[in-house]
Amino acid sequence: MTWHVLGAGSLGGLWAARLARAGLPVRLVLRDRSRLTSYRRLGGLTLVEGQQANLYPIPAQTADDATPISRLLLACKAYDAEDAVASLAPRLTADAELILLQNGLGSQDQVAARVPRARCILASSTEGAFRDGDFRVVFAGQGCTWLGCPPQPAAPHWLDELQASGIPHQWSADILGRLWRKLALNCAINPLTVLHDCRNGGLAAYPGEVATLCDELAELLRHCAPAAAAENLQEEVERVIQATAANYSSMYQDVAQGRRTEIAYLLDHACAAAQRHKLPLAHLHNLQQRLRAHLAERGLPTR
Ligand code: NAP
Repeated sequence: MTWHVLGAGSLGGLWAARLARAGLPVRLVLRDRSRLTSYRRLGGLTLVEGQQANLYPIPAQTADDATPISRLLLACKAYDAEDAVASLAPRLTADAELILLQNGLGSQDQVAARVPRARCILASSTEGAFRDGDFRVVFAGQGCTWLGCPPQPAAPHWLDELQASGIPHQWSADILGRLWRKLALNCAINPLTVLHDCRNGGLAAYPGEVATLCDELAELLRHCAPAAAAENLQEEVERVIQATAANYSSMYQDVAQGRRTEIAYLLDHACAAAQRHKLPLAHLHNLQQRLRAHLAERGLPTR
């Protein structure tokens, strides 16, 4: 069974290179003809691990290729996911499985609505990768990818292919709880690092602001997520702030580099859920307004 990987960016490249070097059939699906031409000119995808850079000449195509797709790893940003899947919908087989690597929540429902017959497997990853050149991915942080599918909880047979490829993973019966918990961590840390213009560790200077946000986010999790997701949220946020003190959050990096953020699938999703549950989470809404104003000032999309 061929692995189609849409999005040869950081995570997509990291997955595609490891699957391909394990001898599994992989096809990259690139944005358009011009990206395909650039890719072919480079001769493949480069993965940098430590001091070692290896080129993987993985075959690539665009969405308008005719071959059917049974297994798709969707590795674009959350705001691109719905359109990207729509472009591939005619090629999906009746029993197609999609693995959705997007951070936050909201894009998964948009995708599922576009391809209602496909099995959508949700993923939450703590692996870290970034691009330091065109079709060149640096593996920056070991981690694990949790996978799960609430409507069909049986694990798929291809997990052993991930094992064979050295992709650390775990099948999870509580993937929604994990995604909500990660969303809450992201909402407690990332926007504040943007607004205070600091590394994660810099938030140690704002303990009151962090604690208030954690209280509100825990309240939200108690209404929206499985019970365990809200437990000890503040302790974990403080632990993450300490453990990643020297890092810039992904949202900070997006803003610093003038890139669109995934705010719509993080803070906006949290605020919309609070509204649906009639929870008056004033600090969370205030954070959303401040972040939107900050993005607008820099000419970046505010959602
Ligand atoms: P990225 O490096 O920006 O890569 C996204 C890729 O998707 C780009 O190569 C982009 O193409 C491609 N793309 C977008 N629309 C497309 C389309 N219609 N057809 C084909 N390709 C398309 O993003 P990323 O960092 O891998 O992030 C992907 C998701 O994983 C995000 O939700 C992110 O939050 C999450 N995540 C990332 C990490 C990490 O360490 N990077 C860790 C955990 C979670 P172009 O190259 O043409 O722009």
